[in-house]
Amino acid sequence: MTVVQKVLTIGGGFSGMAASIQMRKAGIEVDLVEIDPNWRPEGTGITVNGPTLRALETIGVFDEFAKRGFTSDGVDLFAPNGQRIGEIPTPKAVGSHVPGGGGIMRPELGRILADATRAAGVAVRVGCTYSRIEQCNDHVTVAFNDGTTDSYDFVVGADGVNSKLREELFPEAKPPQYIGQGVWRAVLPRPADVVRPRMWLGGPVKVGVNPVSPTHMYMFITEARPEKQHLDPTTWPQLVDRMLEPFSDPVLQSRRPDLFAANAAIDYRPLANLLVPAPWNRGRVILIGDAVAATTPHLASGAGIGIEGGIVLAEELAKPQTLQQALDEFHRRRWDRCRMVIENSEKLCRIEMENGDKAEHARIMRESVILLTQPI
Ligand SMILES: Cc1cc2nc3c(=O)[nH]c(=O)nc-3n(C[C@H](O)[C@H](O)[C@H](O)COP(=O)(O)OP(=O)(O)OC[C@H]3O[C@@H](n4cnc5c(N)ncnc54)[C@H](O)[C@@H]3O)c2cc1C
Repeated sequence: MTVVQKVLTIGGGFSGMAASIQMRKAGIEVDLVEIDPNWRPEGTGITVNGPTLRALETIGVFDEFAKRGFTSDGVDLFAPNGQRIGEIPTPKAVGSHVPGGGGIMRPELGRILADATRAAGVAVRVGCTYSRIEQCNDHVTVAFNDGTTDSYDFVVGADGVNSKLREELFPEAKPPQYIGQGVWRAVLPRPADVVRPRMWLGGPVKVGVNPVSPTHMYMFITEARPEKQHLDPTTWPQLVDRMLEPFSDPVLQSRRPDLFAANAAIDYRPLANLLVPAPWNRGRVILIGDAVAATTPHLASGAGIGIEGGIVLAEELAKPQTLQQALDEFHRRRWDRCRMVIENSEKLCRIEMENGDKAEHARIMRESVILLTQPI
């Protein structure tokens, strides 16, 4: 007998879909509402590490990821002139044989998980959200913007970093904090010899590429910007082109004209993080994913900790225990891991911005990667 029988998930991002699929597998009835009528994550590529691939394997979509994205082991490090200076190993996640990392277009990963969500029997309503949530002792009544009302044993809020649910349930929580760096991303044709991620260190900005398909890779550039700024999107291709000028490596130089193609889909985001102190539930409503624990991408773990959170929540709700025990166990298993990712990502960011100790950067990276490979 599961702790709860009928659950509502609010938000069909990676975290909400992971939780919903796994709860269905445990026999729980799940409704999911997603506010976006197109139910399609925006953006370019996404880099995932081995532990995230392990989580996707648990959900049952790793093979599809490998087919529609790209997986590999290790990261190559280059100087701006193209001289190879080393590599970062990507150790395997404990208990799994999946590769140490991968890349995929974000909408592709969204589609893979959306198909799995529907196939698991989750009742999905798109273009739909809640308009009122009322909690009683043993159930939650939810009114929706389509005029319907329903009753649930439990509600999972996974409505992302700008969560409205967080504002309502945790009015005291600090909003996401800008950390002084922005990230540029672009989708570019992949040279045949780029078969795993590459990073160029020692230049004025940090540049990396990651294969996301047999034909394409995405490029990411992290740049220090003390103030959070709005940058006119019409200037983005020129700005990125100028950032690549000091990198004489032919792999980067040869891609500069591609930045001006419409399908380069250049994107700029100021980076922010957020960590709401646990517990993440108020009564029978819990928040997961970016809504309570949003990291910067320095450990390529944002999506991963959200997906893992969904898996662990479903595991605890499926055990023969009380709801309070399930919630206590969930927080015990998730808090330290999420905090480590967010805090260490921020430390890596600071070292990069201040041109700080490279050995310290490498040490934090190594230790974090090892901790992440541990079972969840
Ligand atoms: C620039 C950038 C680069 C990143 N790169 C990486 C990376 O390389 N690797 C990585 O692992 N992570 C990366 N991340 C982090 C990753 O994208 C997030 O951690 C992940 O998307 C969080 O998933 P989520 O489901 O919690 O939230 P979201 O992806 O934000 O999903 C929330 C969902 O809820 C829906 N929603 C919102 N409000 C409502 C509402 N009121 N009712 C119903 N539905 C609602 C939204 O439409 C959305 O579908 C990056 C993030 C940024 C900003």
